[in-house]
Amino acid sequence: MSQLSGTDFVTDIYPNLSEEERVRVDLAAAYHLIEHFQMSDSIYTHISARVPGDNEYFLINPYGTRFSEVKASQLVTIDLDGKIIDDPCQMGANPAGFTIHSAIHAARHDLKCALHTHTVAGVSIASTQTGILPINQWSLQFYHGVSRHAYEGIALNLEERERLVNDLGSENKIMILDNHGLMTMGENVGEAFTLMFNLERVCKVQMSVLASGQAVNQIDSSVCDLTYQQYKQFAEMSLRDGFHVEWLAYLRLLEKVSPSYKE
Ligand SMILES: [Zn+2]
Repeated sequence: MSQLSGTDFVTDIYPNLSEEERVRVDLAAAYHLIEHFQMSDSIYTHISARVPGDNEYFLINPYGTRFSEVKASQLVTIDLDGKIIDDPCQMGANPAGFTIHSAIHAARHDLKCALHTHTVAGVSIASTQTGILPINQWSLQFYHGVSRHAYEGIALNLEERERLVNDLGSENKIMILDNHGLMTMGENVGEAFTLMFNLERVCKVQMSVLASGQAVNQIDSSVCDLTYQQYKQFAEMSLRDGFHVEWLAYLRLLEKVSPSYKE
């Protein structure tokens, strides 16, 4: 565990794991990290990941577990309808909580993970008409690519799922659920988590700025565009052996503060 990055550390974290077992380790890690960074909402909200392979199967936490209790081997396998395929702990899953996730997984096969939160800052921004404001460097990574979906109540019927998928679109990976919370998605679990970590921080800053009542420095739209593109380039430059160095850094953090995730 002494290596800071690269194949030695990757081998330590994922020793001879199958593709599905790697996804399980990553997904359990994301649950622990969301709890560690105080973005959980008791036992509610979910993070889901697609099981590699031809089946439309997904992994989700056992219903009733705190996020820091989630273990890779105990994740529940469900299908797109929330029907349980495998449930090692016999705790079931929350099909209502999976409804939003299933709509996204069914429509966007490029997205392997969907992460949903209710946080004070996230719900606050989701309750405003302006959404994310381009008022600082952090926020400019979200200058483009953020969808919004209007609130329709807790129960999600089939028609709302269609509207939700239409609102997300074919390329975006971030969605503000109006008056409700935040959603990030990724081509892997690490991407969904890092997007959420950054989005949450942006929401916190924006609430602080709005609460200050002070006049805000405006950023020229050309600089906003430039910075957005720079963020995309940094993300591409940060891959090591197929893993994003930031995700590996978070896994090293968990080795110190919450290593049970990979059990
Ligand atoms: Zn929710």
